[in-house]
Amino acid sequence: MKKTALITGSTSGIGLAIARCFAKAGYNIAFNGLEANGAEIAAEVGKEFGIKTSFSPANLMKPEAIQAMVAEAETFFGQIDVLVNNAGVQFVSPVEDFPIEKWDLIIGVNMSAVFHTSKAVWKGMKARGFGRIINITSAHGLRASEFKSAYVTSKHGVTGLTKVLALEGAPFGITCNAICPGYVRTPLVEGQIKDQAKAHNMTEEEVIEKVMLKKQAIKDFVSIEALGELALFLASETASELTGVSIPVDGGWTAQ
Ligand code: NAD
Repeated sequence: MKKTALITGSTSGIGLAIARCFAKAGYNIAFNGLEANGAEIAAEVGKEFGIKTSFSPANLMKPEAIQAMVAEAETFFGQIDVLVNNAGVQFVSPVEDFPIEKWDLIIGVNMSAVFHTSKAVWKGMKARGFGRIINITSAHGLRASEFKSAYVTSKHGVTGLTKVLALEGAPFGITCNAICPGYVRTPLVEGQIKDQAKAHNMTEEEVIEKVMLKKQAIKDFVSIEALGELALFLASETASELTGVSIPVDGGWTAQ
């Protein structure tokens, strides 16, 4: 029987790349995201790789929508073997001007939703004695940068939750790990380049060179394929003793 991966925020950027990587490896995929063409994306990936897919537009700010998404996926696929908590949002501003609603949104989507999805899949994973939870955090789950109070807080929170879930999952064959990317050129980062340019009073080219890639020893954006392949390994049976860690894929940023 094919394994099933539920991947949040999988209709764009890193999540979509991870979904394609898992689809290529033969997993069925439960897609989620706010993109209007999410259902078409899910259907196309299913057709391309000959796998079963579903799409849920569940808003991760709503715990009851998360519970419904997980229940629907479990009914449709039979089970969820792998949960990839990937969805995330960003907002860049000095703390004194940081809008409260942006703080609530970032903490809600990036951090609290990881608790709600993990809680929702837990019972099934525990009953089957197998589960893989993979959190896409960030180098900002391990390091701080100015103007990113909510984002850095949310990602550090998930770094902690990853360790707790690893400990609680250990007796039941459930592992939980985090992947911490450096900068990946996705729609989220395109938005950040613009916001950072405003915050730092720089051109967009200066932001890429002097703010973003400045922190990475390797002066390149991280490839989405590297993240997909790593997630696939973490999901494998082979990685059964690899748990509770945050793995940077960040061009040497956090080596400093
Ligand atoms: P993206 O903007 O391309 O995709 C984000 C996805 O999350 C989209 O599908 C969006 O619809 C979904 N999403 C956002 N809010 C949601 C909500 N309320 N409910 C349901 N879905 C929601 O971003 P990305 O760059 O691919 O980022 C993916 C993850 O990787 C995020 O957690 C981000 O923090 C992390 N990350 C990105 C980078 C980078 O450089 N791009 C670096 C480190 C970490």
